Amino acid sequence: MVADAEGFVYAEVDLAACTGCGICRTVCPVLGARDDYAEPVAHACRALDDTVRMASTSGGVFGLIAGQVLDEGGVVFGAAFDEGLSVAHRYVETRDGLGQLQGSKYVQSEIGPAYDQVASFLGSGRRVLFCGTPCQVAGLSSFLGDHPPELLTVDFVCLGVPSPLVWRRYVTEREEQSGARVVATSFRDKSEGWRTYSAALRFEDGSEYRRVLGADPYIKALRTTVSLRPSCYECRFKGLGRGSDITLADFWGVERVCPELDDDRGTSLVLVQSDRGQRALEGVSHLMESRQVPADVAVAANPSATGSAPRNPRREAFFGDLERLPFDRLVARYCTPGLVERVRGRIARAAGGRGARG
Ligand SMILES: Cc1cc2nc3c(=O)[nH]c(=O)nc-3n(C[C@H](O)[C@H](O)[C@H](O)COP(=O)(O)OP(=O)(O)OC[C@H]3O[C@@H](n4cnc5c(N)ncnc54)[C@H](O)[C@@H]3O)c2cc1C
Repeated sequence: MVADAEGFVYAEVDLAACTGCGICRTVCPVLGARDDYAEPVAHACRALDDTVRMASTSGGVFGLIAGQVLDEGGVVFGAAFDEGLSVAHRYVETRDGLGQLQGSKYVQSEIGPAYDQVASFLGSGRRVLFCGTPCQVAGLSSFLGDHPPELLTVDFVCLGVPSPLVWRRYVTEREEQSGARVVATSFRDKSEGWRTYSAALRFEDGSEYRRVLGADPYIKALRTTVSLRPSCYECRFKGLGRGSDITLADFWGVERVCPELDDDRGTSLVLVQSDRGQRALEGVSHLMESRQVPADVAVAANPSATGSAPRNPRREAFFGDLERLPFDRLVARYCTPGLVERVRGRIARAAGGRGARG
């Protein structure tokens, strides 16, 4: 896998070693025909335990199901930061390690050896929970070729994945401004609430940086969709019905659909895609409050569930200046909406949509 100038990795084929067997094409979930899936059953859920919910992006359902799988001797795969603050998939086998997987990381996570490791755990009879973007889950299913009974797959509603290089430039600028190394980060700090979430960084010298929503340049770039991988603008893995067992999301609009489950500390939307997903959710039902809701109503304020992120016309110029301009100036130049976009945004919000939020 080799990174391009935008910082996204792509498979590079060594043509001298290629035997021309064509397996790479047959296994690629993007090139294959899209399967039809039944409409899922939707639930609004939130963990009863506030420590689980506050450590999670939405209502903490991933943390509950993962905890159950670990208690039964299983293995859980998800995205975590490494020491250099790069994001990669890794697995945990105990509850102690679960915290590093919880929470959304708005950077493309590198899969590395994860698919091979999943296959190896399944081969030795272990139960495996794999959580990732819809395309990562589709890639795993395609790689395995079937859906072994011990595997539970969880994807989420995904706006798209930003470039690791954009993330690196942002972190470098914050470190230069503070004079200390970043040691911990959260993209969805809930101190000011779940809706008005903040980007939060902690530095080696104990100081902190926290900015709400659009006041943080990295989140601003994400929400204006300039920093996403090109394939995210024509994502093949959108829609209500999917090949995963469970799809998770932020339940935007819960205050209208299910106000009794809204306290602005996070409510999950859970789309149950299979019997296996249903059993997993039932297994943690005593640990959460939940209500069944109509699936189409549940995603009405979540455009990323069914449609790709709009391609920002300033994207190419943004990446063209990524190495040239200081990060905050880059974002000020390319991610400040003009008058027409501001008016459109207001109209969309008044109509009930929330636009690109991640
Ligand atoms: C890049 C990205 C974009 C998203 N866009 C939307 C959106 O537009 N609308 C919406 O409703 N929800 C979106 N989500 C999902 C949402 O933020 C929550 O992750 C989801 O609701 C689950 O919340 P939770 O509280 O149950 O679990 P959490 O504790 O938040 O756990 C989420 C799981 O996601 C995995 N994960 C985190 N970051 C990544 C990553 N970069 N790549 C792969 N896996 C990762 C973690 O390992 C963990 O397994 C997005 C998430 C990500 C990572």
